[in-house]
Amino acid sequence: MKEEVQQLIDVQELDQKILEARGKKTELLSRKEKLLAQTEKLENVVAAMQEQINEVQQDVSSLNQDLAKEQDSVTKAEDRLPEVKTQKEYLAILKEVDAAKKNTKDTEEALKLKQQVLDELEADQNDKKTELNEFKSTNKGELRDIDTLVAELEEVEAAEKPKRDKLIRQVSEALRNHYELVLSRLNSIALVEAQNYTCCGCHMRLPPQFFNNMLKSKNISTCPQCNRLLYIAED
Ligand SMILES: [Zn+2]
Repeated sequence: MKEEVQQLIDVQELDQKILEARGKKTELLSRKEKLLAQTEKLENVVAAMQEQINEVQQDVSSLNQDLAKEQDSVTKAEDRLPEVKTQKEYLAILKEVDAAKKNTKDTEEALKLKQQVLDELEADQNDKKTELNEFKSTNKGELRDIDTLVAELEEVEAAEKPKRDKLIRQVSEALRNHYELVLSRLNSIALVEAQNYTCCGCHMRLPPQFFNNMLKSKNISTCPQCNRLLYIAED
């Protein structure tokens, strides 16, 4: 029994290393996820602004086309003036020219406003792009460190796991199953000392008879409160 206790203590030591490595890895990966999610959020904002910019650019280009047509109408109408024969015809063309010029002016005004909107959007997008790039460059080093550390922690687990698996095979099946069960449930220490009528895992007082029996038998027992495996250390 004494030997089995020591074997389990050794297994537990390796398990704690593995659990610690896994815990650190989980923390690091969640930090990484958070950083990437923040980056993605900024990227989405920049992309959404780009869509707006594209729409306004289309408006600008279609207004430019309108303007060209309208200017063309003015020119064409004016070109007809020298050929007119009657006063009536002359006035009609002048009216046409005026109307076309007014259209041109309206379109120029609309174009100016659209161009302002476009300039503002592009400036806003540039600010966001700068923010995104700064965020990325600030976190580049940390992300690289996280990847390195995660790889190291995975190596720790890969190195310790076979050792503990080999070691635990030396423990009797019943004890092994119980230990594995408690370990998987608690994800922490599964084997603890019973000391001075107390479980060192949950710190509950053990029934005196129970503890005295343990003292006498030196057997591994189970804490009635937390279910951890209990042993009494040799003096
Ligand atoms: Zn306990």
